[in-house]
Formats: sequence, C-alpha cells, structure tokens
Amino acid sequence: MPFDLLKSDATSIAQAVRDGSVSAETVVSETIKRMAATEPKVGAFLQQDAEGALAQARAIDAARKQGKPVGRLAGVPIAIKDNIHVEGRPTTCASRILDGFIAPYDATVTTRLRAEGAVIVGKTNLDEFAMGSSCENSALKQTRNPWDVTRVPGGSSGGSAAAVAARSALVSLGTDTGGSIRLPGSFCGVVGMKPSYGRVSRYGAIAFASSLDQIGPLSVSVRDSALTLSIMAGRDDHDATSSKRAAPDYVAELAKANIKGLRVGYVPAYFDQCPDKEVAKTCKLGLERLRNLGATLVEVNLPNADHGIEVYYVVASAEASSNLSRFDGVRYGMRADKGNAIANYFATRGAGFGTEVKRRIMLGTYALSAGAYDEYYGRASKVRTLIVNDFVRAFGGCDLIVGPTVPFTAFKAGEKSDPLSMYLCDIYTIPASLAGLCALSLPAGFSKAGLPIGLHLQAPPYAETTLFAAAQALERDLGLDRLAPIA
Ligand code: GLN
Repeated sequence: MPFDLLKSDATSIAQAVRDGSVSAETVVSETIKRMAATEPKVGAFLQQDAEGALAQARAIDAARKQGKPVGRLAGVPIAIKDNIHVEGRPTTCASRILDGFIAPYDATVTTRLRAEGAVIVGKTNLDEFAMGSSCENSALKQTRNPWDVTRVPGGSSGGSAAAVAARSALVSLGTDTGGSIRLPGSFCGVVGMKPSYGRVSRYGAIAFASSLDQIGPLSVSVRDSALTLSIMAGRDDHDATSSKRAAPDYVAELAKANIKGLRVGYVPAYFDQCPDKEVAKTCKLGLERLRNLGATLVEVNLPNADHGIEVYYVVASAEASSNLSRFDGVRYGMRADKGNAIANYFATRGAGFGTEVKRRIMLGTYALSAGAYDEYYGRASKVRTLIVNDFVRAFGGCDLIVGPTVPFTAFKAGEKSDPLSMYLCDIYTIPASLAGLCALSLPAGFSKAGLPIGLHLQAPPYAETTLFAAAQALERDLGLDRLAPIA
C-alpha cells in the first residue's frame, strides 16, 4: 500500500519504517511537502530544517539496511516548541530578547527522542516565554488554527498543536505550566498531554515557573502520546525535580488496559455553568460514553479549585520574575548598547521583552517584595495547598476527573484584547498544574461551526497509565475523523 501521511500516526509510521515497508526518507519528504502546502496558511513553525531532517532520515534508512536497531520512533517527523533546546539551532522563546542565541546543547527530551529515531523537522511558535493562551503573544509570528485560519490555535504551545493538526509533524513537544499543552490541543483537535510534575526532565527547556512547568507531547492518537511519554519519562540527573520512580512502558500498559469499574469523577458545575453549551454537551456525552464502556460516574467537589486562576497568577508570575532575571543583555541574546552596564540592562529588557512578559515580571516582583510577600505569595501558596488537598480528597473516591478542557472553542484572532479574559481561558486546566497531576485533552467532538472540542481527563500524580487507558477507550469509542480540513 502506498504511504499516506494523512492517514498515519507516529506508531504506524515507526512500525512501517522498522519493517521496511516505507523508508524514513519517504516519510520525511512527504512531511516537508505537507509543510510547504500548509505553512503559508497556518504558520506553525519559527524554524524548519528540511535538510537536517532528510539527512537524519537517510541515516535511519542506512542503519536499518545494515540490520541495526532504529528505535521506537524511527522516521517519525517531530516538531519541538521553541523554548526547548535543539543543539546548534536558535532557541527564541518567540521573544526578541533571545535574538541571536543558539542552543549550546540538546534538552534531555531532545536527546531521548533522537536516540529513538525521531526526526526533528522544525521548531514551533509559542506565546513569548510560554505566557499566553492564543499564541498571539509571540513577538515573531502569528500562528493560525488549521480548522479555521481566522482563529487562534490556542497557546502557549500553539505552533506545536497547529503543526500536528495540519500534519506537518506527527508528534510535537509542548510545555504546560497552566494549560499550555492541553488548551491548544483542545482548540486544534489533537491529543495534548501534560505529565505529572517530575515525570519528565525539564533540562534544556527554558524555565517559566519552575514549580509548574512540564514538557509533554501533542499527537494524533493516544497511543502516540503513550509512546512519546515512555521515551521521555524517567530520572535525569540534570534536573533534580525529575522523579526517581521508574517510568512504566505506557504502550505495554495500554495493551493490558481495561476501564471496567473505573471510577470517573466529575464536577457538575463545570458542565452546568460552562458558558458554551455545545462544549458542555459534547463533554457530557464523553462522560456518558465512559459510563457505557463500564466506568462508574461519581460526583466530586473541588471547592478551592475556583481560586486556581488567582493563585496561579501570583505563583507563576513570582517564579517567572526570578527565572527571567537571567535575560540581562549580558549572557544571552540581544544587547542594547547604551554605554554602561545599568543602562544596557534597562534598555535590553525594555526593548527585548513584550508587554505580557513585562506585566508578569512586574506582578511577580511585587508579589515577592518584602511588604507584599505574605499577603500575596505566602497566601497564594497556602491556597495552593488547599487545592492540592481538594484533589487528594476527590481522588479518594475516584480514579479520574473528567470535564471540559476549555470553556469554549477556538476564538477569532484579535478577539480577546484584555489580559483577564485571556487568563480565564485556563480556568479548568490550572488546578491540575497547581496540584502536579497528570492530565490530557482528548478530542471529543466538534461544534456546529466545525471547531474541535476537547475533553479534559485528570488523574493523580504518576497515574498516567489510568489516564491513557481511559483516553484510548474513549478515543476508540468516538472514532472521530480528526484531520484538519486545511489544503
Ligand atoms: N495561559 C497560561 C499563562 O499564560 C498558561 C501558560 C502555560 O501553561 N505555559 O500563563
């Protein structure tokens, strides 16, 4: 059978490359053609590397012919969010302040994926330093949603989600601090997975809020998400927060999965008070399908999760203000030359950072200042603990909590101009980040306008196996055709 990129997922491609029914070179050259066709409309990539990718593909084909092992992602075209290092390529974070900066080493995830034969086709657009929910905060490019190019792809990993939705990559990496993998996954109709905090090494990813950041996959299918996570997960001595717990083989676990008797929790208000009735209805149907598949539904209550947004914007901004102090015009990227160190520092940061990044730095610096610390950072940290406790209590009675990923579908570019309305996009995703849970957005249906709707599945820390099992059962039951209708 001739190879069809648009009907493949990463698992099937890697299998075909390994057994020799298609060459990695064919897969990659088809992907490059696809990129050329879709990129003028979508604009998912900040950098493309056709030559490097073809060279990598040919090396895989040559190794296979010599009988050498070629890896679990052999020949799979992957895209990497441009806040994760790929050695020798720029890491821009979609910011002007990193102009001219070249990554000096590979991130641990990059190393691990490469070692399994993944072929890096390019680096994707994001909101500057991953701060945003629409990709519109990128200082370098505007990315559009492949389902409707007048709309945003979501953010901050918008380029990564759009690339997979357009099939100009089969898997991509994003980072999720408060929802940045799951929200664009929901808007673009792809599987977006945030691992538990500590499951994946953050070494080589530019820090935004270190107590929340995780790297995770965006993919065409749930099994691809499980495969990619199996490769990335596990202890890395370069990141002290990466867990020493052995990483399961999530693919093997999926084969054994059975969701009969799984207790699925839901918060009724997330459906009843969801402003978009189509989203609420589709997600409710998802819940009912899980019940028909043998799960038991349990009503749960997360009283403090409603304060998630307030807590997050204090905690994440505080951490960001500290993390971003390293961009001083001396060590990395651009430098405004004003004749003396202090003046250079002000001028570089003034010109290099965009408005949203500056807003977070100011908010965070204030929240950490001597007079305000207890009132803001201290109090937010305490409420964070209350949210963690809510989940601990809820998970005492269920294995999974399910609801909408985002209260609405992808909005029009330029539609949300005030920061608060943008912040509210993450109302359902932020609590899981604050509590270090693992969570996934699964495409669950479409609105009448043809826009994807994502279902949010959340499981306790390190219960990825449960998450994948439920997501795959539902994915099969739904049987959606999820290819974005872009040329
Ligand atoms: N939209 C949220 C923010 O702007 C989350 C971003 C993220 O997860 N990186 O902070």
